[in-house]
Amino acid sequence: MTAPTETDDPRALAERAGRELEDATALEILTWATDTFGARFCVTSSMEDAVVAHLASRVRPGVDVVFLDTGYHFPETLGTRDAVDAVMDVNVITLSPTRTVPEQDAEHGPKLHDRDPDLCCALRKVRPLEAGLAGYDAWATGLRRDESPTRAGTPVVGWDAKRRKVKVSPIARWTQDDVDAYVTEHGVLTNPLLTDGYASVGCEPCTRRVLAGEDARAGRWAGRNKTECGLH
Ligand code: SF4
Repeated sequence: MTAPTETDDPRALAERAGRELEDATALEILTWATDTFGARFCVTSSMEDAVVAHLASRVRPGVDVVFLDTGYHFPETLGTRDAVDAVMDVNVITLSPTRTVPEQDAEHGPKLHDRDPDLCCALRKVRPLEAGLAGYDAWATGLRRDESPTRAGTPVVGWDAKRRKVKVSPIARWTQDDVDAYVTEHGVLTNPLLTDGYASVGCEPCTRRVLAGEDARAGRWAGRNKTECGLH
């Protein structure tokens, strides 16, 4: 595909790359991203699994992998983060909210996640990520079109208008079977909760196991009119 030029508007660059890379492999998409943005590209990971981090480390060893520690994670998620940091050729960067959970409780009352999950996600996820991404021009996610109806239109490369950055979703076209096959083939680290009934892993107060026939994200904010945390 055409190389970016200094005069490329980043939004136009992202949208053009999204069209041109629609049929590309995940490694080709990540190669384009790392060639284009170098050290100003990072991977974000919820530590549900390390698939995108693993793919990115194959094209850019030592790539930055950004993890948001909300203070509400399952111990298994923090353990996965620590294992990724220990064994993979990546640079794990942990972002934290400006307030600890006790400080947030003092300011907003306990269990804000039960009373106003949008505010809780804004304080503990959205704002820390926005601050943490300030040093990057592009970020990669593990979003997949098959995860939920709200993710069905995810481009492989798109423009993140909220943060004015290029957003790369190299496995957007993958299915759960593709993920499972990659994990098996490469021995990629995964969160132990995935073999304990959880199909999608978020903060402990807002995540439950999924039931047969439910989509992968049905266990997130179950019973509430909320499907995303505001990051996407
Ligand atoms: Fe708070 Fe739940 Fe959002 Fe985590 S997922 S930041 S606990 S509302």
